[in-house]
Amino acid sequence: MAEHENESFAEFCVRQKAGLQLVSEAEQQENDYKKALKEAQEKRYERKYQLFYDNLDLILRHKDEILATPRYANIDAHYLLKGGGLYVGHLNMARQFNIAGNVVIINLRLASLFKIWESDQFRVECECGTTTFIRGFAGSPLSGSSQASAICSKCKKIVRVDNRSFGAYCGIVNAAYAEDIEKFAKALMTKWTLAEVEYEKKIVQGKSARWFTVGDVFKDDGEICELETMINELKLKEYENSPANDC
Ligand SMILES: [Zn+2]
Repeated sequence: MAEHENESFAEFCVRQKAGLQLVSEAEQQENDYKKALKEAQEKRYERKYQLFYDNLDLILRHKDEILATPRYANIDAHYLLKGGGLYVGHLNMARQFNIAGNVVIINLRLASLFKIWESDQFRVECECGTTTFIRGFAGSPLSGSSQASAICSKCKKIVRVDNRSFGAYCGIVNAAYAEDIEKFAKALMTKWTLAEVEYEKKIVQGKSARWFTVGDVFKDDGEICELETMINELKLKEYENSPANDC
């Protein structure tokens, strides 16, 4: 931690005159903080990535249930698929939007990852006969060449796939992610409309409008379900339904 956290106006003028330091000490502190936070997040996503693919067999067994359960279907899955290439960089499936000064992060949802995996482009058969799903790809938009890899949920073998269309990989992912952005925007509009209806109802019931606004009754989806919680709940369900549990 630096000694001076707050720069006085006189110090600011000296810095400006010197014309050397373009980033203030306070800005540097904020940048350092953000960098440390980002590094911690990356470790967290690495751990979650490992957990997801260690439990892929379990997750795929419950695919229909996950898709039918919004708190599972909406789980952040942006770090589970790694894609990118020359000139295009990493595909970003967790974009930050600045909306009226609030940072809104829209992630690729787990349901959308399953949708991407429905395409033949993202499927490959393992030697053991199991259909596996591509979780990473890289390539070049100029030559169109690519390398990709999948992990087998049964035998845990890594399956390599060469030279499928790089444009198709990117296009399928972009289309699925664009749908998630649209889903977010529509859900937000619906929630505001519901809040307006709720507000009008309360006013009709006699609630005073003096300090009471639509914002007071605006609601979100409730607590976010983490990947760890979903995996635990799916395991418990299988345990409860297993024949061994009957005796
Ligand atoms: Zn296999």
